[in-house]
Amino acid sequence: MKYPKLRELAEAIKAVIKGPYTSKFPAQPHVPHPNFRGQPEFDQDKCLGCLACEEACPSAAIAHEDILDDDAPPRRVMIHYTDDCIFCGVCQDACIRETGDKAIVLGNKWELSYFDRSQAYETIEKELQLCEVCGDVIATRDHLIWLAEKLGELSFSNPTLYMSRLRELGVADENIQTVLADDGRSDRVKILCAECRRKTATYE
Ligand code: SF4
Ligand code: SF4
Repeated sequence: MKYPKLRELAEAIKAVIKGPYTSKFPAQPHVPHPNFRGQPEFDQDKCLGCLACEEACPSAAIAHEDILDDDAPPRRVMIHYTDDCIFCGVCQDACIRETGDKAIVLGNKWELSYFDRSQAYETIEKELQLCEVCGDVIATRDHLIWLAEKLGELSFSNPTLYMSRLRELGVADENIQTVLADDGRSDRVKILCAECRRKTATYE
């Protein structure tokens, strides 16, 4: 007769006293371990719509769509395709928000089955800022304001950033455009894309 090893005997006794290691799912809801790496989720309020996570995602599970052609304000839809996600956490690392304040974070969602795979996605929306001359997309409003706050007084070298910040604070003096218009320079204090800024600065 073979006798159990001491370690196995200890495990068996522990299991009798503490109960089994496995959960009773589906009879009871399963609570994942605190370190479980589950489906990442966007935080609508913290996300800046900067697309750094989309660039970094190795499985193309993050995408975006800029919507400009309906009656609603222009907006960027950030899309997370949950069925393509491998829960690697690269998006969380790449997020430009500070550590501890990330706008996409691995959560503890694990029960992710769908009958229809086309429904396996989640979205958030961010308002877009368009160039006030040509109408091209510059960035999301939140991204511009975040940059202006990060740069502090340095943002006053960039009219697009400081005008975004002043408008957010409700203290932008729009009359300055009228004053400068006589001189043909009103575009200099507008929110512009890089190309229109270059043309304005070089008087093309
Ligand atoms: S966890 Fe990995 S695969 Fe999933 S969205 Fe983030 S970067 Fe992409
Ligand atoms: S990197 Fe962070 S802030 Fe930028 S779009 Fe992704 S989640 Fe949002």
